[in-house]
Amino acid sequence: METFILVFKVLGFGDLCLYPASFEYYAPASLDEAIDLLNKHREEARVLAGGHSLIPMMKLRVLRPAYVIDLNRVKGLKYIEEKGGEIRIGALTTYYDVITSDIVKRRVPILAECASVVADPQVRNWGTIGGSLSHCDPSGDMGSSILALRAKMVAKGSSGERVIESDDWFVGSFQSALKTGEILREIVIPTPKPGSGGAYLKLERKAGDYAIAAVGVQVTLDGSGSCTYAGIGLTAVGPTNLRAKKAEQALVGRKVDDRVIEEAARAATEDCRPTDDPLRGSAEYKRAMVGVLTKRALNKALADAKRSR
Ligand SMILES: Cc1cc2nc3c(=O)[nH]c(=O)nc-3n(C[C@H](O)[C@H](O)[C@H](O)COP(=O)(O)OP(=O)(O)OC[C@H]3O[C@@H](n4cnc5c(N)ncnc54)[C@H](O)[C@@H]3O)c2cc1C
Repeated sequence: METFILVFKVLGFGDLCLYPASFEYYAPASLDEAIDLLNKHREEARVLAGGHSLIPMMKLRVLRPAYVIDLNRVKGLKYIEEKGGEIRIGALTTYYDVITSDIVKRRVPILAECASVVADPQVRNWGTIGGSLSHCDPSGDMGSSILALRAKMVAKGSSGERVIESDDWFVGSFQSALKTGEILREIVIPTPKPGSGGAYLKLERKAGDYAIAAVGVQVTLDGSGSCTYAGIGLTAVGPTNLRAKKAEQALVGRKVDDRVIEEAARAATEDCRPTDDPLRGSAEYKRAMVGVLTKRALNKALADAKRSR
């Protein structure tokens, strides 16, 4: 986003672009109605959730949808519930809802930790988990926790619903696996087993900023202390949120001691694909930070896992 602002300022378009181009506004009362509208207007339409990415992009004229379909009056998209070994989160659930949910705090604290370092209270009060995942910003924080938890996304379109694995969700920068005419309805997280712990650590230039780099870690230990599950997601160090697969492999099936943690942290520096950027530092620096954050997040997640066995 800041890169866009810079380009607009350099080109002298700054003042011109603080107002969005004109658009028609819809506020459907049901998901089916929203999907009908989306299918009627196809590429010319965008759905609006918290508006904290869509509206700035419209103001900067990066996006000029002719139709905006506001989901905020659609009932049944805002909930966090646990049933049948799964935690289900409605797409319109805000960061604030995630942070304050007892289910999240008890079962998947990584999500609360992650949501609490997104931006500032204004953004957290309005921004939604569904909006963040659909926006697919490689610097978005939620995506890495979702990858660490191996969540699934439930998309609904005119021909029904389909379930998309988190590994298949992040297609490219600002490109999710949603097809034209589909809306993300729900996020489904397998409830972690006893002996699990998680952590999300973010390095930022200043409070409330997007990440220089961030790491989400989720682990499960069995009774003997062996790691039976490891999920690691990386933020802002690749074209999308990334899963650190080599780092996960360094952990699973082993008793995790300091040497194994070092090995996994080193592997995470190989899993990431950072680029140089004038605002947040060189690729080399970000890669080094991925190693540091992975090590710290692992230590925190493992301590929680040991406590919950
Ligand atoms: C000042 C500022 C700082 C920020 N800092 C951070 C940060 O540190 N970390 C971070 O992760 N994010 C940050 N953000 C982004 C913020 O988290 C957004 O809220 C989030 O990216 C988008 O969620 P939203 O609900 O606001 O979606 P919107 O802005 O309403 O929508 C975003 C995109 O997703 C689409 N969309 C929304 N919901 C759905 C759905 N259910 N199905 C299909 N498509 C959908 C929209 O059409 C749009 O293209 C920041 C934003 C601001 C303004």
